[in-house]
Amino acid sequence: MLLTTESVTKTFAGVHALDDVSIRIDEGEIVGLIGPNGSGKSTLVNVISGVLAPTSGTITLGEERWGRRPSHKVARCGIARTFQTARLFSDMTVLENIEVAAGACAPRGGRRGGVRVAARQVLERLGLGHLAGQPAEGLAYGVQRRVELARAVAARPRFMLLDEPAAGLHDAESDQFLQLLLELRREHGFGMLLIDHDLRLIMRGTDRIYVLNEGRMLAEGAPAEIRKDRRVIAAYLGTDDAELHTEAGADAPAT
Ligand code: ADP
Ligand code: MG
Repeated sequence: MLLTTESVTKTFAGVHALDDVSIRIDEGEIVGLIGPNGSGKSTLVNVISGVLAPTSGTITLGEERWGRRPSHKVARCGIARTFQTARLFSDMTVLENIEVAAGACAPRGGRRGGVRVAARQVLERLGLGHLAGQPAEGLAYGVQRRVELARAVAARPRFMLLDEPAAGLHDAESDQFLQLLLELRREHGFGMLLIDHDLRLIMRGTDRIYVLNEGRMLAEGAPAEIRKDRRVIAAYLGTDDAELHTEAGADAPAT
């Protein structure tokens, strides 16, 4: 199973947020997506997940191929995503938040009890079991990010698109988060697209990296290659942008 985009372009009022972007993610592969603010990373996730329709280009998942497809249908065919800013249902409990995700992707006519059991299992697995009955509102920031990941896992996807899931986490939390992603990949074989400004995380956690700049694909390669790539250094690594956003984390504006 393979997830690809082919020549995806997305234009907002004449501005090319994405220009001819092609990527591929294999099942079980963790692929990094980096680039300066405004380079199109979130737009790419929005287009793949059906939140935005591409201006042109196609998305392929296994045998299926589409241009625009509504997000609930994309979710049902095996792609889960998290948002750059956590979007939990604040008036629901943690367990209810997970149930919504588990239920949306359960086979039609499935029993409600099955969804609850599945949601509980995911919560336990992610170390959140003790918070099941807590309202999502008021959870500590790092916990919210973990609940978001739990929602994605509960949808039982083949691929997960993670838009800055570790932004704003302290180094120790971020290390734990990466460890968890690696374990989940081992257990479920998820392919993942991981966006983050924390290059320490990206360089250690990914098999391959794409670099976007002003909506165009600037480079693709193994972490060791990307680190040395002159174009990448000039556009991104050479600035203090990366450090800046590791520090600013949660306070950085959502773009
Ligand atoms: P990144 O996630 O890499 O920071 P984005 O994908 O959020 O970048 O944004 C890429 C470009 O597209 C930016 O110029 C941004 O202002 C623009 N953009 C993103 N979403 C919208 C939108 N819904 N309407 C108009 N412009 C947008
Ligand atoms: Mg973004």
